[in-house]
Amino acid sequence: MTNDICPDSGSSTSTPTDNELQEHEITINNKYYVKTKYHRKNESPMQIAEVLATRLNKDGNLEYYVHFKDFNKRLDEWVLEDRIDTSKEVVEMKLSESSPCTTPRDLTEFDNSFFSTSSLDESESLTQAECSSQSLGVLEKKPIKSRVKNLDAIWFGEHYLQTWYFSPYPQEYTEARVIYICEFCLNHFISEKQFERHCKKCTIRHPPGNEIYRDGEISFFEIDGVRQTTYCQNLSLLSKLFLDHKSLYYDLIPFMFYIMCRSDAYGFHIIGYFSKEKNSVEHNLACILTLPHFQRQGYGRLLIEMSYELAKIENKIGTPEKPFSDLGLLSYQKYWQEIIIEVLHRYHQFHGGEITIEEISEKTYIAQRDVLYTLHTLGIGSYQGQTAIRLTDAMIVMSKNKKRRIDRSKLDWTPPVFTYNQLRYTK
Ligand SMILES: [Zn+2]
Repeated sequence: MTNDICPDSGSSTSTPTDNELQEHEITINNKYYVKTKYHRKNESPMQIAEVLATRLNKDGNLEYYVHFKDFNKRLDEWVLEDRIDTSKEVVEMKLSESSPCTTPRDLTEFDNSFFSTSSLDESESLTQAECSSQSLGVLEKKPIKSRVKNLDAIWFGEHYLQTWYFSPYPQEYTEARVIYICEFCLNHFISEKQFERHCKKCTIRHPPGNEIYRDGEISFFEIDGVRQTTYCQNLSLLSKLFLDHKSLYYDLIPFMFYIMCRSDAYGFHIIGYFSKEKNSVEHNLACILTLPHFQRQGYGRLLIEMSYELAKIENKIGTPEKPFSDLGLLSYQKYWQEIIIEVLHRYHQFHGGEITIEEISEKTYIAQRDVLYTLHTLGIGSYQGQTAIRLTDAMIVMSKNKKRRIDRSKLDWTPPVFTYNQLRYTK
C-alpha cells in the first residue's frame, strides 16, 4: 500500500516497510494535530493536518508529509513524529461553521494585509471562487502522488531554490530530490557533473525569441510555443514547481510566451514570464510567474503591466484567466488598485464630476468586471445617494509609489498573425 502513495525516496533514503509503519499509529490519509511553524500569535501551533505520504530520511527516521487544513499547499512539509499529536481526536468544524470567504493561508498572510477582500459579495469575489474550490475539496480529488512535492529543491544557475509544488519531471529525476537547471536554455540535469559539463558547452545567453522590449537591464522576449517547443516545455516544468493552480500544458501550440529578463555582462537572466493564448477574445494573459528569487521586488507588477501594454496595442480590453494563484491575486489586486486610483485622481483633477465604470475600463484596458471588483476592494460606498469612492491621501501616494514601470516608447511589438496550424490544439 505504502509503495503506491509514497513519494519517490532519495538514493540516500528508503521507503518504509509495512512492518515499520505498523509500529506507528500514524496512517496515511488520516488527520492529526500537527505542530506548524506558521501560526498566528494568539493561535495554537497545533493545527489540523492530513498525512499524505511517508518516507525514511537519511538518518533512518520515519517522516510524514503533511498538508495543513486551510493552509496553502506551499506550506506542506515533511515532519518527524514528534510534531504529530496522536493522543487527541481531530474535531473539524462543519463547512457552514467555517469562514465562508477565507483564502487558504499562506506566507503572504503574515506580511500583506493591506488588500482586504472582505467587502466583496459572492458573485464578484475572485477570492471567493478560489476559496470555494478549496472548500469543496477540488484539490482533494487530485491523485495523491501529485499532492506530494517530488523535488525538494533546484539549483537554478547559481541560485538554490526550494520548490513549492509537484511538477512532472521524469521519474528518475525525483530520486535525486535536487536537480540542476540551466538558467538560459532551461535544460535540466540529475547530476552536478552533467550540469557542469552542460554549462561549459551551452552558448545560449537569452531566451530563444525576438527581443520586443529593452529598458536598461530589463528585456522581454517573445516566444511562440509552436516554434520553441523544448524551451517552452522546460519553462512549463519549471513554473509548475512554483504554481499550483494551472494544468501543465504539454501542448504549447496555442500559446505565446513573454519572458522577462535582467541582463548583465554574462547574459539575460530570466526573472519571470507570462503566457498568452493566441487569438483569445477574452483573456490577455493565461499564466504568470515571477521566479522566487526575484519576488517582492516589483517584477510581478511589471509583467502584468506589459500584458496590458500588449492589449492596448491590440486594442483589446481583456482579463487574465482565472482562478488566480494566491500570489497572482495579490499582484493583480495591487496593480488594478494603483492604475484605477491614478485614473480617478487624474480625472477628478482635470474634469471633476463623474466617471463611469465603462470609461475607466476604456482608459485602462482593465475589463469592467475587474474594475468593479477593484472599486469594491477600495471601499466603494454610497454618499448622498450616489455610488462613489473616497480617495484618501494614502491611496494617492500608494498609486504614485511605483518603483518599476513599463516605458511604452521602448516596446517594439506588432501583434503576431497566426495560421490555422499555429492555433490548434493537437489533442
Ligand atoms: Zn543551457
